[in-house]
Amino acid sequence: MRFIATAGLVAFAASTATASTPSTSSSSDLDPSVWEKLAPVSRPSYLSHARNRPVKRQSGWNPPSELATPLKEVWDHCLKTYSDGSLFGFKNYGWDQIMATNGSINMCVRWDSSSSVTAALRTQIVTALNEQYQKWFEWLYGYDNFPFSKISVNVVGWAVRDTGLLGGNTSDIDVYTNTDSGGVPECAPACGRSFHQDGDYSSCPNGADRHYDQSLWLTDGLNGGFGGDWGQQVGKEYLLGALGSENIHILLHEMGHTFGLDDFYDWTPTGVSNFIMLAGSSTEITEFDGWMLRNWWYELSRNRGWQTSSSSGSNSLSSTTSLAPAATTSGPQQGTAVVSPPAASVTEIPQQTTPVTSSAAASSTSSAPQRDIPVGVCKGRQGKKRRA
Ligand SMILES: [Zn+2]
Repeated sequence: MRFIATAGLVAFAASTATASTPSTSSSSDLDPSVWEKLAPVSRPSYLSHARNRPVKRQSGWNPPSELATPLKEVWDHCLKTYSDGSLFGFKNYGWDQIMATNGSINMCVRWDSSSSVTAALRTQIVTALNEQYQKWFEWLYGYDNFPFSKISVNVVGWAVRDTGLLGGNTSDIDVYTNTDSGGVPECAPACGRSFHQDGDYSSCPNGADRHYDQSLWLTDGLNGGFGGDWGQQVGKEYLLGALGSENIHILLHEMGHTFGLDDFYDWTPTGVSNFIMLAGSSTEITEFDGWMLRNWWYELSRNRGWQTSSSSGSNSLSSTTSLAPAATTSGPQQGTAVVSPPAASVTEIPQQTTPVTSSAAASSTSSAPQRDIPVGVCKGRQGKKRRA
C-alpha cells in the first residue's frame, strides 16, 4: 500500500501513470476533502442544460477544437497506463457489458447496512440509477454509430444482511443474504458479469435474465466512492441524501470509471480544469467528460468491431485527422505537481477491504500530509480484490 507521504498544497500523487487496472478508481476517491469542495449536490438546471447539451448525430472524431489536445493527452495516457499498456486486452468495460446485453444494464444492490429499506426507497434508487446513467449516455445516443437510442438500467437483485430489512413486495427482485469473504452482503457470484465475463450464467439460480452486470454497493459511513467494471460503491448516507438531486456527482464520477474513464489525481490535461472525472472540480458531467466518453466509444468500437460496416466510413476525419485520438507515445503534458513514478513502483495495491472513512480526512486547506489515503491504483480490483 502506498500513501501520500509528503505534499505541499497540491497532493503529491504518484501512482496512476502506469499499469493501472482498467476502469477502476483511485482510492483517492475516498478522500472526503476532495468531495467536500462540492458539497452542494444540485445546481441550477439551466446552467447544465445550457452548457452541456450534447450535440447529437455526429460521426467520427470531431471534438471542439479547444478540447482536442487534452482529449488526446487523456487517451494516450490511458493507452500507456491501463492493463500494463494493453487497454484493449481488458474485456469487461461497461462498453463490453452493454454490447453483450444489447443495450441494457442489470444491477444488483449490495446493502451494506443494518437499516431497513422500503419499497418506495428501492424505487427511488432505481430511478436515480437510470437518471444518472442517462446523463452519460446522452453523449452517446446518435453519436458515431452508437447502436442504442436508450439504455435501460434495471435492478434485478438486492443483497442484504437480513431479508427482514426489505419492506414491501420483493417478488420482482432476487434477494441474497450470502456474504463475501469480508462479510459484506453479496449478490450471487454465479449471476455476476465480472465473475462470468464469458456470459455463461447457467449456474445463476433464476437464470440469465437475472444476471447482473454491475453492483451498486451502498456502505454505511463511506465517504467518497469506488468505481470499476464491477459497478460503483458510494456511501449509503450520501446516496440517500442525494436522491432526487439533479446531479449525484460522486455516483456520476464512479459510473464514469465503469465505462473506462480515469482519475486525475496526479495530472491534469492541458487547458481543462473543471470536469467530473477530476474529483472535486465539478458536480456535473461537462463537455470534456462527454467527449472523453465519446473517445472511448470511438476507439473501442473500432478495436472491437462494433462499428457497422455500412456507416463507419461516413464523415471521415479529413482535416481533423491530426486531432484524432490515435495512439502516440506522448504522455500527458506536465502540469503542476505531476509526478511520473518509476514503472517498478506501480504494483502497489491498496489492501484494505474496509474503505477509508473519516480517518482520511485531511484538511483541504492545510499543507499537512494527507495520510492514510492510499494512492496506488486499485490494481487487481477485477481479480484479487473483486468488488462485484
Ligand atoms: Zn475516481
